[in-house]
Amino acid sequence: MSIGRQGIGMTSQRTRDRLIERLRTEGIQDERILAVIRATPRHLFMDEALSSRAYEDTALPIGHGQTISQPYIVARMTEALFLEYTPKRILEIGTGSGYQTAILAQLCREVFSIERIDGLLQQARERLRQLELTNVLFQHGDGYLGWPEHAPYDGIMVTAAPVDIPARLLEQLNDGGKLVLPKGAAGNQQLLVITRQGEEFKEQLLDYVSFVPLLEGKI
Ligand code: SAH
Repeated sequence: MSIGRQGIGMTSQRTRDRLIERLRTEGIQDERILAVIRATPRHLFMDEALSSRAYEDTALPIGHGQTISQPYIVARMTEALFLEYTPKRILEIGTGSGYQTAILAQLCREVFSIERIDGLLQQARERLRQLELTNVLFQHGDGYLGWPEHAPYDGIMVTAAPVDIPARLLEQLNDGGKLVLPKGAAGNQQLLVITRQGEEFKEQLLDYVSFVPLLEGKI
């Protein structure tokens, strides 16, 4: 899937190019991912009052005490999921604004995205519809449980931090598949890549990060 002309909105292409240059400087190398970030109108995923800051490399508030992830982190997590690997079906936990969802939808065949806050989910669904990204299924639910009906997934991305890796997510990973997630309590979180090899799970530390917590239940 790709975003057409409607992606070129109120912010200039130059502003977006600067963000891409910054991501390159920070070490992002996957050209497919850089091209998709360049084509995706991040300003449409936040309140209009903040849209002049949409192409800065920072997290920004999206209401309900949540944030849209920093572009560098979105790029880093996506790059980890796609490194020497092409996941076709991806489960995302923590839809939030839908920005990371939109990035993934342009890089794989199908995205399944779960959000626990209904207000955020409805807004994200509407944004992806406007961008004509139709290969995404949404669920208002608790991501700790995953989405067993559509499992197994080639990739799972979690954009809020649990203290421990949820066992249900490991179970729903395909053989060879990867789980990318922040883990740990506030102030002490690690960004991990877990690769499934049969019944073994190989863990790799990518970075130290700061995410909102993964919370149980839905509201
Ligand atoms: N990728 C999103 C990040 C949103 S912040 C973006 O770029 O906009 C993380 C999101 O995870 C929040 O919207 C929060 O409500 C959601 N979340 C937290 N715990 C969850 C859970 N158990 N299941 C599903 N979503 C959850």
